[in-house]
Amino acid sequence: MIRHRDVEQLQQLSQAPGKTLTVYLDVDQTNPANRKRQFETHLKDLLKQLRASHPDDEELAQACGEVEEITKRIEPTGRTLVLARHRKLGVTFRKVIRIGLPSFAYWSNGAFLRPLLEALDEHERFGIVLVDQKRARLFTVFLGDIEEHKDLISQIPPRPDAPTADKLRSQSRMERHHDESVSTHVRLVAGEISRLMEHLEVDRLIIGGNVGVASELARALPKRLRGRLIEVLPIPLAASTDDIRARASEVQTRLERAEELEVVRELLKEVRKGGRAVAGLSATLEAINEGRVWKLVYLQGLALDGGVCDHCNMLFDPADERCAVCGEKVDAEPHMVDRMARAVLERGGHVEMVDGPAAEALRSVAEVAALMHS
Ligand SMILES: [Zn+2]
Repeated sequence: MIRHRDVEQLQQLSQAPGKTLTVYLDVDQTNPANRKRQFETHLKDLLKQLRASHPDDEELAQACGEVEEITKRIEPTGRTLVLARHRKLGVTFRKVIRIGLPSFAYWSNGAFLRPLLEALDEHERFGIVLVDQKRARLFTVFLGDIEEHKDLISQIPPRPDAPTADKLRSQSRMERHHDESVSTHVRLVAGEISRLMEHLEVDRLIIGGNVGVASELARALPKRLRGRLIEVLPIPLAASTDDIRARASEVQTRLERAEELEVVRELLKEVRKGGRAVAGLSATLEAINEGRVWKLVYLQGLALDGGVCDHCNMLFDPADERCAVCGEKVDAEPHMVDRMARAVLERGGHVEMVDGPAAEALRSVAEVAALMHS
């Protein structure tokens, strides 16, 4: 789980004087290429490349050795390992996060945090409230991790369920009392949620539990929160945190897919009219080399071969043997997509990996494409 203090630690590292080795490594175990700890081999390749571009840097060589050792002890419990090692300070940040980021290694003054910070910024924090007549549970889900915050319990008299004829009058009074108490409870929960949502910076809200009470709660939300409510779902109040996380992640995936589809549609529209987008490897590489890419878009899990000129960092088609700029020999790059993502990120651009319907729409035209600065 990545928490606020992790980001603070990272930001300190990013401001520390001296060099930091920052590594983003795809360790996702749903990808067969990463199983049996093969991500360690991928890391070796990345570090070898990095060292090739800093040939006499002894400090880098040592930092690479340390990072390889640290990675051997990493459990691949998520999708991306984020690791930043500052040798002189003897400080290492390591975290396996549940979102996919392109793999690469950086050697720079200050940790290279933009990909991570951008992901933190883009990913919405979900609040989930489960409520029934008596209780309420509040969770937040962020970057695929779930946290339970507080068990809200308001004491209310139980609804009588075995009425007797002579108690009818008091029964109806008790029911009224009960209903009022439920309303009080719902109002209390609504107030508590709005306080916590501000405090926890929740962007989206899901309500579950008892459907009747949940719907009442949805209506009782302050106006400014109603816009953040996505839906009321029949999640049992006693559901396990794993179940709740899974439900939230379904909703989140659906929202993300819809947003990706939006991006791809815009991109394809621009490609069709010859506007500010290009599709296909060659055209995309050209746009990257010219520093014109605003957002690189590619199919999730895409692997491509390509070439790189170590001399001037230009990226080429796998068929190109000589750098079109300096004439040096082009080196083969087996992880071309990561390399392209890195080039775009380093120049202040963005990267979007698409899956589902957005991927199908993109695939009908190309595997990789780019929206350009206008
Ligand atoms: Zn060159």
